[in-house]
Amino acid sequence: MGYCLMKQLQVLLVAGTHGNEVNSIWLFDEWNKSPFLINTHGIKTCKVIGNPEARKAGKRYIYQDLNRSFQKESFLSLSPSNFESIRANELVNLYGAEGKTPCQIALDFHTTTASMGSCLVVYGRRDADLALASLIQNQLGLPIYLHESDQKQTGFLVETWPCGLVVEIGPIGQGLLSSRVISKTKLILETLMQQIHQVKKLNFFFPEKLIIHRHIKSIDFPRDDRGNIDGLVHSLRQSKDWHELKKDDELFSKMNGETIRFEEDQSYIPVFINEASYAEKNIAMSLTKRELWDFKKEWKKSLIDLVHQK
Ligand SMILES: [Zn+2]
Repeated sequence: MGYCLMKQLQVLLVAGTHGNEVNSIWLFDEWNKSPFLINTHGIKTCKVIGNPEARKAGKRYIYQDLNRSFQKESFLSLSPSNFESIRANELVNLYGAEGKTPCQIALDFHTTTASMGSCLVVYGRRDADLALASLIQNQLGLPIYLHESDQKQTGFLVETWPCGLVVEIGPIGQGLLSSRVISKTKLILETLMQQIHQVKKLNFFFPEKLIIHRHIKSIDFPRDDRGNIDGLVHSLRQSKDWHELKKDDELFSKMNGETIRFEEDQSYIPVFINEASYAEKNIAMSLTKRELWDFKKEWKKSLIDLVHQK
């Protein structure tokens, strides 16, 4: 018997990066009890609960949002109360590409209270991320939300791995289990593993085009002088994620009967409308542009090289 020095592909699977998004946590717990519950198509995986303390507390986070804590600078000065920065550091040391148990791909499972159905979130424009997202869009028809150029929103978990996607499934209340959400999580997880396996076997089908919803900006609720929300998402806008928002469309309504309308000349596609956890981030919804992109060969090469550990 000799030592095998060849690096092996490992995929990090994260549930409960937000402690009150309980469906993927529950699925992982069931999976731990029944190892064959999820078909990983022979790909090695490491599965973790992102924020176990927040999970225990039934909260999104304890000190700060874990999914904004993967900042290189914050690793340098860790205060003991900053539980999430410490946890981010720990996850990178354990499962980062240079960690003890190195993983090259990270898949981070979330839920949203917004009526968005299922979608993939890609951060920035990394080739391997776009290749993997294209494979999944081709299999399941999921929308891809490209999050970039938002200076206020940084430090996402998946950005710390060479390739990583967030899966968002909604709508579901925080802390609420749902068979519908569990089934979708399982389907998307198994499709991801199947497609990574296909890339390993060099037997894949990349589409020629992909549909991207590119983040442009986020807008806040109307607020009073003290900063409290004093207008609600308009009833005609609520649950209209992925539907076009045009000039003069109803946006917010106030209790005095006033309707606040969208004033810009250009139209957008809103997502994360009235997401419960974003009010604290001053986000009532995020506005995207729907774009049709050509698939690029270098995306494919990047993912193949990563999966084959070149
Ligand atoms: Zn989340």
